[in-house]
Amino acid sequence: MKWWTGAIVMSLAGGPGAAPVPGPEYEVFAIQYARLEGFPASALILGADPARKLDLSMMVWLIRGEGRVILVDAGFYRQQFLDAWKVADFSKPSDAVARFGVKPEQVTDIVITHLHWDHADGADLFPNARVWIQREEYEHYRNPANLAQSGVFPDDIAMFERIEREGRLRLVPGDSQTIARGVTVFTGGRHTRESQYVSAWTARGLAVIASDNVYLYENIARHRPIAATWDTVSNLAAQDRMVRMAGGDRLVVPGHDPAVFTRFRGTARGVARIE
Ligand SMILES: [Zn+2]
Repeated sequence: MKWWTGAIVMSLAGGPGAAPVPGPEYEVFAIQYARLEGFPASALILGADPARKLDLSMMVWLIRGEGRVILVDAGFYRQQFLDAWKVADFSKPSDAVARFGVKPEQVTDIVITHLHWDHADGADLFPNARVWIQREEYEHYRNPANLAQSGVFPDDIAMFERIEREGRLRLVPGDSQTIARGVTVFTGGRHTRESQYVSAWTARGLAVIASDNVYLYENIARHRPIAATWDTVSNLAAQDRMVRMAGGDRLVVPGHDPAVFTRFRGTARGVARIE
């Protein structure tokens, strides 16, 4: 199959671009649970015109197969965030996932790509899930001194400490870590202290869920770093690596681009199957 050839080429090339070893095929979906209206493009794409405004899709991603139901990010639901932002078409992320046909208690794993409120806050809506976070990300933001202006909130840190006490937290020790057969997480995007992104094999090849390490398709198309990054050079290198791994940009899924739902068909409104 085509992706197999690509994988061999990639591993011959070696280095940080090496593709994950082909694994079992999963179904991968994007599920929208809200929208944010009128967001300035300059907050998303470095150097973009601040007068240009965009609507953002707020989504979680679901990877299903091999007896696992893996959510990538968990969205938000606490009132403080609903009060603070102009949120449209909101559903609690667990309700959006339930509408899709997956009960919250059936989610076996959650990969938290980073601890920003809109990706991490919903983690306790899924009571049985193991929760995977980069160790360095967790340890950094557990220090209250690092929370100011960070987009990470004390209530969410307290929630993850509860999940840790329940024995459900899994701290990931860095780059290229496999969390299920054929599902791998990567660091280097530097959206936050140690943000991660996720790859999974599908029938059409390797899908890469970039989350906010790539905000929009435009970041990749114009080769522009995300506006919010600790390191623009690392961020671009991570974007390049994602495209190399996926054998092109088609199956690289950005964190907030509503075009995900027009590029891919879904089973319902606000659902896209990544294939
Ligand atoms: Zn973010």
